[in-house]
Amino acid sequence: MTWFKREDNEIVTDDRKTVRTEGLWTKCDGCRQVIFKAELDANDNVCPKCGKHFRIGARQRIDMLLDEGYELVDLDLVSTDPLNFTDLKPYKARLKKAQADTGLNDAIINALGTMGSHSVVLSVMEYKFIGGSMGAVVGETIARAVDRSLATRHPLIIVSSSGGARMMEGIASLMQLAKISAGLAKMDDEKIPYIAVLTDPTTGGVTASFAMLGDLNIAEPGALIGFAGPRVIEQTIRQKLPEGFQRSEFLLTHGMLDAIVPRKEMKQYIIRALDFMTPKS
Ligand SMILES: [Zn+2]
Repeated sequence: MTWFKREDNEIVTDDRKTVRTEGLWTKCDGCRQVIFKAELDANDNVCPKCGKHFRIGARQRIDMLLDEGYELVDLDLVSTDPLNFTDLKPYKARLKKAQADTGLNDAIINALGTMGSHSVVLSVMEYKFIGGSMGAVVGETIARAVDRSLATRHPLIIVSSSGGARMMEGIASLMQLAKISAGLAKMDDEKIPYIAVLTDPTTGGVTASFAMLGDLNIAEPGALIGFAGPRVIEQTIRQKLPEGFQRSEFLLTHGMLDAIVPRKEMKQYIIRALDFMTPKS
C-alpha cells in the first residue's frame, strides 16, 4: 500500500497534451551535436554549431539566390523512358515516385530573375529527384537555359547537386554532356559569363561536363566533388587516398576550384563577381 495516494479527484493525464518531440531535432553528422530543426532552418540549413552545410532543395536555393519576383520556366519536359528500362523496379515507376515526392517533372528547375542589378538565367538541380541524375530532360532543360542566356546575353548560373548521368537512360544521358558543353562553348565565344556553383554532392558526368566549365567555379564548404567514387579509385590505383579527398577544400588547394563560398555569402559573392564580369551599361 502506498503511503500517500490521492483518492478523490485523481489527476488524469490528457493524451492531447502530450508534447511530440520527434522531428523537432536532428543530429548533425559534422559535429555529432543535436540541433533544433527550427534553428537549422533559420540558418539556411547550415549547422549553427559547426557550419556544416546540409543539402537543400532546388526551390529553397532559388529563393535564396534570386530577388523576389522571379519566373520559373521550362518545367514541362518529361522523360520518355527511351530504353523501357527496369533494374530493381521499372524506371517509369521510379520517375512517378520522384515526381510525386518532389512535385517536379525531373531533377532540375530553370528560373529567370534578377540578382541585384543583374538579370540572370539560373538553373538549379534537385538532388531528391533520383539523386539529381542527369537524363535527357535535365540535359535539355540546361541546354534551354544556355539558349536563353545566348538570346538575352544574361549571365548563366548553374547550381549542381548530382550523382552524375542517369544510367536508366544509357547513352541518351551521356549525350547530354556533349550537348551542354557545346552550348557553353558558344557562350564563351559570345563572351557571356557562366558561373558554376557546386554543392554537395557533385559527381560523375555532371562534374565531367558543365559543373567544371564555369568562367568561375565556386563550391559550398565541405561539398563532395569528384568523378568516380573514392572506393573505385582506391581499388584501381591500389593506394590509400589522402584525408579530405574529393571535398571542396581539397579541390581548392589543388587548383580545381576558384573559391569556396559559404551559403550565407553566396548571393553577394555572385553579384560581386558579375559586377566584374559584365560590362557597365
Ligand atoms: Zn554541426
